[in-house]
Amino acid sequence: MEITFHGSAGTVTGSCYQLKSETKNILVDCGMYQGRKEFEQLNYQPFRFNPAEIDAVVITHAHIDHTGLIPKLSKAGFRGKVYCTPPTKSLAEILLPDSAYIQEMEVERKNRKALRSNKELLEPIYTLDDVERVLQSFIPVKYGKEININSEFKVIFRDAGHILGSSIVEIFFNGKKIVFSGDLGRHNQPLITDPEYIKDTDYLVMESTYGNRFHIQPESKKDQFARIVKKTIRKGGNLIIPSFAVERTQEVIYILKTLMDSGEIPKLDIYLDSPLAIKATEIFSKYPCGYDEIAQEMLSKEEDNDLFKFENLKFSLTAEESQKLNSIRKNAIIISASGMANAGRIKHHLKHNLWRPESTVLFVGYQAEGTLGRRILDGNKTVRIHGEEISVKAEIEIIEGFSGHADQKDLMNWISNFEEIRECIFLVHGDDDSRENMKNLIEETTNYKVILPDLFEIIDLTNFEIRYKGEVIEPDKKLNEILEGFNSKLSDYLKDPEKVKIVNDYLKELKDKLVG
Ligand SMILES: [Zn+2]
Repeated sequence: MEITFHGSAGTVTGSCYQLKSETKNILVDCGMYQGRKEFEQLNYQPFRFNPAEIDAVVITHAHIDHTGLIPKLSKAGFRGKVYCTPPTKSLAEILLPDSAYIQEMEVERKNRKALRSNKELLEPIYTLDDVERVLQSFIPVKYGKEININSEFKVIFRDAGHILGSSIVEIFFNGKKIVFSGDLGRHNQPLITDPEYIKDTDYLVMESTYGNRFHIQPESKKDQFARIVKKTIRKGGNLIIPSFAVERTQEVIYILKTLMDSGEIPKLDIYLDSPLAIKATEIFSKYPCGYDEIAQEMLSKEEDNDLFKFENLKFSLTAEESQKLNSIRKNAIIISASGMANAGRIKHHLKHNLWRPESTVLFVGYQAEGTLGRRILDGNKTVRIHGEEISVKAEIEIIEGFSGHADQKDLMNWISNFEEIRECIFLVHGDDDSRENMKNLIEETTNYKVILPDLFEIIDLTNFEIRYKGEVIEPDKKLNEILEGFNSKLSDYLKDPEKVKIVNDYLKELKDKLVG
């Protein structure tokens, strides 16, 4: 039996592991590479295996960096079954078509540029047709149920507590067991259950995204929301929340509802203005089995037996419904996508509220460089939205600690709950620092063997012989050198840190454009 790390090794995205015996061949996850251009380009390259020879795919959870290339697999000849939990199937049914749409748009944009410079045109990685075909082969399997996916592999899904339906996957083959942690959730995060502990395994493939970080929370999320809502009411404006459609949005609604039910904040209208987030919220209503005890108890008191159906939660599905919100001046909470404010309906709400000192814009997640959210958070006095310069006068807030990932303490706690890991731990899904740090910690506190595989590395599980050494994908060195050199010269020249920041931001944008 050999394992190949097709993604999430030396990067945190593109999760995809191949288990290959003499006769059978399965994948765990088949995710999209995201982030750095060098990795994103891999999405356009052929798979390093023959998709027609893959018998089955097992999915840990619905995030695109774990599922985003399954339609490409189908386009390239895969005709097997895809196994996942029922909520993961439902979420994939909304996220994969959305992904097809996004990347078709992206290819169109790139091709317009390519036409101008006489470069070769790109083909979309896959289309909606590919998505629809592969979704037919999804088989929903409940947590804890043992299923034979073929003559050699048996699979059990366990709750990973990361997003609704997320799983740790136990795979049994030839008298051995391998556990894939998937993305592990945090303990005591709002709404969803905590990760399950696993008793023993031969091999463990484990994520280490937050292997060198801790979630610090000086003030509870609930207290922060209460403070921000009350302040916005006092000022007489609206509260605008750019949010990610799946999980984050539902957590935010859940926290707001809890505060309203307990009377800590008045019952304000909450408008959910994002078709994707609305669909995701309906999936959360459909699978209350994924809620933690506190949410279950709250649910039992609901008349309609639905946490996401209450009088002051309003869904704005159509463009007209969305536009109506523009005329609301105060006491509205508007949650809209995207989470980094770089696309979607949120831009309209920012345009109508950013210039008003009485309104508040509240970010509930990481804002990447080059996004509108980051520019607002960085304190720019004006930002450009739909071609207009909008002054930023609203109060800008951020509530951190919304990550769905276990931090170092949670990860170490999860490992310590194993009674036995007989062969080894492969650390994946983390930056190099993070993986190194976790490796050291595990080796200091246990006697487990830890391996850090590189991208595309092939390892024989019977004797740990490396069949293929793997690859380290370096960033575009030349471009980085030029930019760094230019930056340092510029810093000498411009002594005013404000000016340096403006130019740096511009350079970052320029770099994104050149690279992307
Ligand atoms: Zn995830």
